[in-house]
Amino acid sequence: MNIIFKFFIYIYKYDRNLLFEINRKIGGNKFKQCPNCYVIIEKNEGCNHMTCINCQHEFCWLCLKKYSEDHYALYNLMGCPGMEFGIKINN
Ligand SMILES: [Zn+2]
Ligand SMILES: [Zn+2]
Repeated sequence: MNIIFKFFIYIYKYDRNLLFEINRKIGGNKFKQCPNCYVIIEKNEGCNHMTCINCQHEFCWLCLKKYSEDHYALYNLMGCPGMEFGIKINN
């Protein structure tokens, strides 16, 4: 567990609004919470398939649903078709 990660857990515990403020200043959705354990996760690469550093839960960065093998398949209208490396403009 690195220092930045601890820092964000600290902020999250004590001042949730500050976290959202930082997130906005950094520019966009660089940080989100794991939908399983609620730890703050930083998006590092272009891929939207995320694995939580805390609980190893796999989820989709865009919709925060549990990741499945066909989540980004073009026919999967319940997932995020074609968006594995995409960026959603509107949330
Ligand atoms: Zn987690
Ligand atoms: Zn998704």
